[in-house]
Order: sequence, then C-alpha cells, then structure tokens
Amino acid sequence: EKAITVRDLHVSYHGNEAVRDVTFSIEQGSMVGIIGPNGAGKSTLIKALLGLLPKDNGTIRFFGKEPEDMRKKIAYVPQRSNIDWTFPITVMDTVLIGTYPSLGLFKRPKKREKTLALECLKKVGLEPYRERQIGELSGGQQQRVFLARALVQQPELLLLDEPFVGIDVASEETIIHILKELQQEGKTIVVVHHDLSKASSYFDHLLLLNKELIKYGDVETVLNREV
Ligand code: ADP
Ligand code: ADP
Repeated sequence: EKAITVRDLHVSYHGNEAVRDVTFSIEQGSMVGIIGPNGAGKSTLIKALLGLLPKDNGTIRFFGKEPEDMRKKIAYVPQRSNIDWTFPITVMDTVLIGTYPSLGLFKRPKKREKTLALECLKKVGLEPYRERQIGELSGGQQQRVFLARALVQQPELLLLDEPFVGIDVASEETIIHILKELQQEGKTIVVVHHDLSKASSYFDHLLLLNKELIKYGDVETVLNREV
C-alpha cells in the first residue's frame, strides 16, 4: 500500500490557486524532497496533506485510509519561521506535546510518555537541555527539539517543512542521520526543501512543484542523469 496517494488536489486562498491539479503517490519507506521556488505551494501542499488547510478538490489517502483515521501516525515539523519562540515553555514540555495525538489533550503525560520524551531528546542530543526554555536554544537546537516532538509520536509518516533553514551544519547532519535511520525502519519521510542540488544528495525521490506538479520520480530520473 502506498504511504500517500494524492489525486487532483487543488488548494486556494480566497480564490487564488496555490496548488493546482496535483496527482502523485509516495511509496512507503521512501524519502521524498518537495522542491520548488518561493511561493510554489510547497507549504500549502504539506498543510493540505495534514488537514490544516481545506482543499477545493481532490482526494488524499494515507496507507489507503482516510486522512482522519491516520492523523495519530503522521507527524509534522513546521517551518521555524512560523513558530513563536518567545512562548514560555521548556524543552521537555515542547517534546511532550508530541504525546497529545495518542494520549488526548486533556490527559497528563505519565511515566511512559516522559520516558519516551527523554529517549527522543537523547536521540537528538538535547537531553541535558530538557529544563531550559525553548527560546534560549540556538536555531539548530530548536529544530532538533521539534524533531524530537515529532519522534515521540512514533509516526509512520513524517512531514518536515524547510527543516534546515537558519540552522547550523552539525544540527542539519544530525537531523538527516535520524531521518535516514527512520527510513531504514520503513517510515516514510517527506521534506520541503528549496535547494535542488542539496536535496538530490539527501533524498531518493524528488517532487518538483510550481503550483502544478512539474516532475516526480527518483532522483536520477528527475535530474535526467544516466544511471
Ligand atoms: P512555498 O511554501 O512554496 O514558498 P506557499 O505554499 O507558502 O509556497 O505559498 C504558495 C502561494 O500561496 C504563494 O503565492 C503565497 O503567497 C500564497 N499563500 C500562502 N499562504 C497564504 C495565506 N495564508 N493567505 C493567502 N495566500 C497565501
Ligand atoms: P510558508 O512558506 O510556510 O507559507 P511564509 O514565510 O511564506 O511561510 O509565510 C509565513 C506565514 O504567512 C504563513 O502562515 C503563510 O500561510 C502566510 N502567508 C504567506 N503568504 C501569504 C499571503 N500572500 N497572504 C497572506 N498570508 C500569507
């Protein structure tokens, strides 16, 4: 079963189409880069997949199921620029937000969730920072905290929106390493990225978007390289 199937997707803002007639499917266990210039509709596509934006038309399926039935298994790392980093919350509490989809918003995280959150913080190398305020961390550390928050969800599918913008090289390498590990476990990874040359070394499939789908396939095919 395909991890994502999208057919005839149209999304607009007040009548202005941002995503037009997009059709594609993503194999389970692949790592896909969504590439396109500024304003190409990359974030819009991701947000529509997550159900954060209404679609005008089209169908979306995850593992053959209705999106509503799969939400708990889909994790999202939003664009850093869209997050209020002055909000007073600790690193640990930020990561614990990742337990809400399975636990429910009105249940307190118990020992099990806290243990899991600590494991995920360890994985991104930030366990010693657990009681710090999120706003005190560097950009790269903040991005790793948000990755930990997504990992706590134990997702089958992980969507990341421009995770490498404004972060240090070491954090970028840590994040790529963790994503590749997840892929080896059979998880499906979708990453919005604006840099085609970098993306072609990170991902195995590329989806070129400019409002419409321009090209989609494995890296060699999309770049017209000899195999
Ligand atoms: P990308 O992520 O590729 O940079 P976006 O999905 O953010 O592109 O934007 C696609 C188009 O939709 C752009 O023309 C952008 O200005 C417009 N857009 C994005 N968000 C909104 C919004 N909240 N209201 C109106 N227009 C929007
Ligand atoms: P993104 O690529 O996630 O849209 P941006 O930095 O382009 O990030 O936009 C930041 C915020 O402003 C987002 O919430 C986006 O939806 C909104 N936005 C983007 N373009 C427009 C627009 N033309 N009109 C209104 N809101 C917009």
